[in-house]
Amino acid sequence: MASYPIRVFGDPVLKRETAEVTEVNGKFVKVLDMMFDTMYDAPGIGLAAPQVGIEQRFFVYDIGDGDGPNVLINPRVVESEGEWAYEEGCLSIPGLAFEIVRPKIVTVQANDLDGNEIVIEGDELLGRCFQHEIDHLDGVLMFDRMERLDRKAALKQWRERATTISDSLHAL
Ligand code: ZN
Repeated sequence: MASYPIRVFGDPVLKRETAEVTEVNGKFVKVLDMMFDTMYDAPGIGLAAPQVGIEQRFFVYDIGDGDGPNVLINPRVVESEGEWAYEEGCLSIPGLAFEIVRPKIVTVQANDLDGNEIVIEGDELLGRCFQHEIDHLDGVLMFDRMERLDRKAALKQWRERATTISDSLHAL
């Protein structure tokens, strides 16, 4: 199966908001299959459409809990709860990981492939995956979720790319 090249930080497509998906057809399903392959090849536990240059509001994910691969179409966070610090990686910021504090549990409203509206709750890693990918759909990257000084240091690290990502990291 074929994979897409993954867009990396600096590519303007990652900073743009996506358009709602209005039609799920055979072409869309083919794109999905390629996104699943791209995610597994990377490897990552989530991949949002803009990361492969597609400016549409959907993402794929598989956090390795036996329930993947999955897709959420036109997803929105409708509720969030708690706080959780977690070291995040991003396939579009390869080689780096940063601790980011976000809500621990989120409730997401989305459409499935059949056009049904679904409501799904994500806790810990799944919740983190949802928030990270939905950020991508809004043109928001991890750097945008950091305090000013942390962001400055992180961008410096990106420019120098001195560290390597650990094997155990879940990239999104
Ligand atoms: Zn990412």
